[in-house]
Amino acid sequence: MNKTDTLTLVDRPVPTAAWVQRLQHRNRSPVPGLWALLDAVKDPEVPALSLWDLGVLRDIEQQDNGCIRVVISPTYSGCPALEAMRADIISTLQQAGHPEVEVHTALSPAWSTEALSPQGHEQLRAYGIAPPRHCQGCSVPELTPESGITCPRCGSDDTHRISEFGSTACKALFQCRACHEPFDYFKPI
Ligand SMILES: [Zn+2]
Repeated sequence: MNKTDTLTLVDRPVPTAAWVQRLQHRNRSPVPGLWALLDAVKDPEVPALSLWDLGVLRDIEQQDNGCIRVVISPTYSGCPALEAMRADIISTLQQAGHPEVEVHTALSPAWSTEALSPQGHEQLRAYGIAPPRHCQGCSVPELTPESGITCPRCGSDDTHRISEFGSTACKALFQCRACHEPFDYFKPI
């Protein structure tokens, strides 16, 4: 059994088309071991989340000369975490015996929260961040609502938005009326 097969077993939330496409691409790759290695590289802003689960890791190829070419899509333009991600990818592969590594940044197609894996949603929630909510069948992401985002701590929907911006610009700050905890909501884009 391929390691990546286990990634399809989680059925909650409903996998997005973008995620299914990414998983199929990974499963077709001739270098599954390299994908597995890079599962260890985490998002610098949310250390619970791998670049794969975040949807940033787009492609890995090994060229005939042994050089490894990695393609990533930044989550937001000018994302300060990008350099840290790039350095982590290079050092992880070099420590595994691959000295020649190139990391390319692909801006198109743009990263979207639709690329997050189902596991990524669970990891965000476990970390205390409400995952992005996508409405089924909508072509554009739902705007950040003023209330009703499920609290990642206690599961209550009795929540309200405090600020459009949370700890980073890609998150909004909410507060739960049930447990009174504030929490970040990962805004869909
Ligand atoms: Zn709560």
